Amino acid sequence: MQRLAASAGLAALVLVLAGCSILSVPAEDRGAKNVILIVGDGMGAAQRDAIQLVSVGAHKKSIMGSLPHVGLVGTNSANSDYPVTDSAAAATAMASGVKTFNGWVGVDTSNNAVPTVLEQAKAAGKVVGLVTTSSVTDATPAAFAAHIADRNQERHIAQQYLEESEPDIILGGGRSSWEPTEQEPEDLTERAQEQGYTYLTDRTALNATSDRKLLGLFAEEQMYVAAPEGEGDSYKPAVSLPEMTRKAIGILSEDPDGFFLLVEEEAIDSMGHVGNGTLMLKAGKALNQSVKIAKDFADENGDTLLIVVGDHECCGLSVEQPEEGGGAGEGEDGPFSVAGSDQEFVLDNSTAGHTAVDVPLTAMGPGAERLAGIYENTFIHEVMVQSAGLDAGGGSSETS
Ligand SMILES: [Zn+2]
Repeated sequence: MQRLAASAGLAALVLVLAGCSILSVPAEDRGAKNVILIVGDGMGAAQRDAIQLVSVGAHKKSIMGSLPHVGLVGTNSANSDYPVTDSAAAATAMASGVKTFNGWVGVDTSNNAVPTVLEQAKAAGKVVGLVTTSSVTDATPAAFAAHIADRNQERHIAQQYLEESEPDIILGGGRSSWEPTEQEPEDLTERAQEQGYTYLTDRTALNATSDRKLLGLFAEEQMYVAAPEGEGDSYKPAVSLPEMTRKAIGILSEDPDGFFLLVEEEAIDSMGHVGNGTLMLKAGKALNQSVKIAKDFADENGDTLLIVVGDHECCGLSVEQPEEGGGAGEGEDGPFSVAGSDQEFVLDNSTAGHTAVDVPLTAMGPGAERLAGIYENTFIHEVMVQSAGLDAGGGSSETS
């Protein structure tokens, strides 16, 4: 502020120059001030189609399907024995632009730490955030803000958040990795508060705060219970993904230099693994509502690159017609109602694991047109950093 006040004359000059050049360029052409990456974990084409069917029906586009630019993303990891990725390698590819082994986050195949888009955005003066319905230290968010060759080391990942990457906003589950244990007596939520984080554990506190550095841990582990239908399954996050997304965008967008935000719905994958189509679709709707919040923001702020993508497909899902006379056949799930119609469909998994099929990507905003086509997931990193000017060391911050 002092520097701003002291350089009023310079500011006036800059404004004159800006009037001549930068301000005459439409917002979309000035690069991406903000980048929002929304990941549906395990969300392939069939998951998207099923989410669309239950949300808006067979002949309308879902919100995530309405983004103007469409791509098809290869997800294979660097494993030598098979090409099917896990979330760690897939997220590392999107976060850092390198292929790595399954289970590794933020490191290449030689176990070298690789810079992430979140770190690059932070280095360029932007604020950054992680939002997920999983543990905040789970593989997908971890690949954006930690570097370790074992995704299961979640306490180490939490420590790296505090010691190295320091995301401004961290919202999700996974309290257990931060709390003290007999072997690890330090309470990492206390250390976070010493570092300036406001620590939150419920919706009321999240709604009430206007602080800009938040650690919100709303569940001990994931924010839902993945199990087959009727066997203890639950998808009722203490704070919904749309609520967390709205709060994160609201706070991050106050920064004049722009922001990077990762939003992840993990339950699409988790519910898929256990064959729970009902809650996979419920989680998918939550993702779609979160996309709506991000899209509304991007519609109002043309300098925002919004990307919606799965990290990999789960379970070889297909959308099928019900059995003769209605209902689901052996091994199928459903029937589910198609919105605005009398139609029904059933879901059918071909595996309990991930598959190597390409996943759809939809996007809008500066640079999104480059994401039309077929490419590997590493290209997503390239487009994010180039669109936001992060590779040239500064980029769009010069427009603020
Ligand atoms: Zn999975």
